[in-house]
Amino acid sequence: GVIASAHDLVKVYGVGPTAVRALDGVDVDLVRGELTAIMGPSGSGKSTLMHCLAGLDRPTSGTVVVDGQTVSSMSERRLTALRRTRVGFVFQAYNLVPTLTALENITLPLDIARRPVDRAHLDLVVGTLGLTDRLGHKPAELSGGQQQRVACARALVARPAVVFADEPTGNLDSTSAAEVLGFLRGSVDDLGQSVVMVTHDPTSAGYAHRVLFLADGRVVGELRDPTAETVL
Ligand code: ADP
Ligand code: ADP
Repeated sequence: GVIASAHDLVKVYGVGPTAVRALDGVDVDLVRGELTAIMGPSGSGKSTLMHCLAGLDRPTSGTVVVDGQTVSSMSERRLTALRRTRVGFVFQAYNLVPTLTALENITLPLDIARRPVDRAHLDLVVGTLGLTDRLGHKPAELSGGQQQRVACARALVARPAVVFADEPTGNLDSTSAAEVLGFLRGSVDDLGQSVVMVTHDPTSAGYAHRVLFLADGRVVGELRDPTAETVL
């Protein structure tokens, strides 16, 4: 099935002669239970596409449907609710709360939403991300790769329909990056999570089930079961 889709998506920043057409008619279907990578050169519209799919940014025209809901025409209130409950985010800079332990960071979205922690699901997520013996550590006591895996666990813990990751390994050395991507792929293969990852790194894209290539605000190609070599 399709977990998120965009139809004839256009995003224009600004008006008049200086306006930038960041997305120029994008059609994509993202498959449930897959890790999809979005690749393309700087300025090709990757972040804009992800932000429109995630309900962080409104398209100029076109339709976005996530988990059966039409995001592109939602009120701000419903968008906020969608972002809280149906969508998870992983950022390049981890964005962990430094004063909280790994476990407290992971359960923070549930605490904010005043939802109970499903202990069995938490254990599954934490185990899948290889964090079982790191839960009591504060972010400063964890390696970069471990911090990003905590951020992944935090994105996954509320069972979102889809997790969006924006250059999740951008701050990591290649060893830690491989770890994070391996665990992220594991969350897809073992937990059935749907993940969309923006990256400009062919090695990262090699972990995906499918890669979409953007150029000048359009989808210009795709590849199934890519490897770092075939993506190049
Ligand atoms: P990518 O993520 O592939 O680097 P972006 O989606 O960030 O590409 O940007 C696509 C185009 O839109 C670029 O030309 C960029 O300069 C422009 N752009 C992105 N965000 C804004 C903004 N907030 N205001 C004006 N132009 C923007
Ligand atoms: P990596 O091998 O990914 O670069 P590090 O060398 O940063 O990881 O850390 C190795 C181990 O030491 C990790 O398991 C981490 O939990 C622990 N560690 C790193 N920094 C600290 C710290 N400041 N205090 C306590 N433990 C730490």
